[in-house]
Amino acid sequence: MPAFKIMRLRDYTLTMNKVDYLRISLIDRCNFNCQYCMPSEQEINYILQQNLLTDSELLTLIREVFIPVGFRRFRLTGGEPLLRKGVVEIVKALASLPETQDLSMTTNGFLLANMAQSLYDAGLRRINISLDSLDPDTFDLIVGRRGRNGWAQVWQGIQEAYRVGFDPLKLNVVVIPGINEGEILDLAALTIERKWHVRFIEFMPIGNSQLFAERGWVPSAELRQRIRHKYGLVESSVTGAGPADVYQIPGAKGTLGFISQMSECFCDRCNRMRLSADGWLRPCLLNESGQIDLKTALRAGIKPVELQEKVRQLLAIKPEINFKERFNGTQGGTYTRTMSQIGG
Ligand code: SAM
Ligand code: SF4
Repeated sequence: MPAFKIMRLRDYTLTMNKVDYLRISLIDRCNFNCQYCMPSEQEINYILQQNLLTDSELLTLIREVFIPVGFRRFRLTGGEPLLRKGVVEIVKALASLPETQDLSMTTNGFLLANMAQSLYDAGLRRINISLDSLDPDTFDLIVGRRGRNGWAQVWQGIQEAYRVGFDPLKLNVVVIPGINEGEILDLAALTIERKWHVRFIEFMPIGNSQLFAERGWVPSAELRQRIRHKYGLVESSVTGAGPADVYQIPGAKGTLGFISQMSECFCDRCNRMRLSADGWLRPCLLNESGQIDLKTALRAGIKPVELQEKVRQLLAIKPEINFKERFNGTQGGTYTRTMSQIGG
């Protein structure tokens, strides 16, 4: 292993990064077909209904495995989490656990207008909504055929989430060269008058590696330079515990976050694991090694206390997995799961 990596791994171990955040994919299906996430030409093997974690299995894993091991913060994602039957009840159950310190959701917002109030009433307070464009045609192009005319509905969902009181309300933007790159100033400007938080995410080669090879990605530093030039930009005093570097247009009500997993390595800040809708626990987004199948173990009658031990063991080797060659641990250089199957 090169000296650089030994250094980073040692630093990581010394800082004793606490892994207490679980991203939970509720479903791998989606009502959109975003170009960067799940290419339409690719055959996707959706999880069969009988292989999805049931609500009861999910809650058993959270209550009897993840919480005892130290997880306290949970994000619901997908696929599209609002397509999961009983999502409001799942929110309610997770929000009512005394150990839950933070519960959030990432959604494409298409079904949000009618669900925002019930999600809020169930205890959800923090929401991220993907909005890659302010132009309805570009939006349709990005989200694919199933999302036709989707922009207005998503915009309505965002307005409703704001009205209901979600705070923080974050808008996720994946920047694709030549598609929505020209809109970053307009998207950044949304934060001036509204307390919305726009987060620019560097395009990653997970999901649609062909589009990635064709289009490439824009470094966050370049986006910041363009925004600084037009509006000015200062580091924000509001920083989260996550991977985003947070800035603000001077005087703006909201903030601008930059998630730079391509141009920076923030593995030393990694505080999370990912649970897929079929119960696989993944220690690293960029590296597929080390995953464990909790659903099969649970269905085989293995006791939660033994599963806790499996999760602890995975936590112990997580730094090593995180610091393996980035984008390695994949089959032949391509990921076996699309981003929609992982949950972002
Ligand atoms: N369907 C929900 C949504 O779109 O917000 C949740 C799932 S989606 C997989 C979670 C996040 O991953 C979204 O913000 C999406 O933009 C982001 N994402 C998907 N594919 C990506 C890629 N190739 N590179 C960077 N971010 C990606
Ligand atoms: Fe669906 Fe979200 Fe992926 Fe778009 S980014 S296809 S909305 S899972």
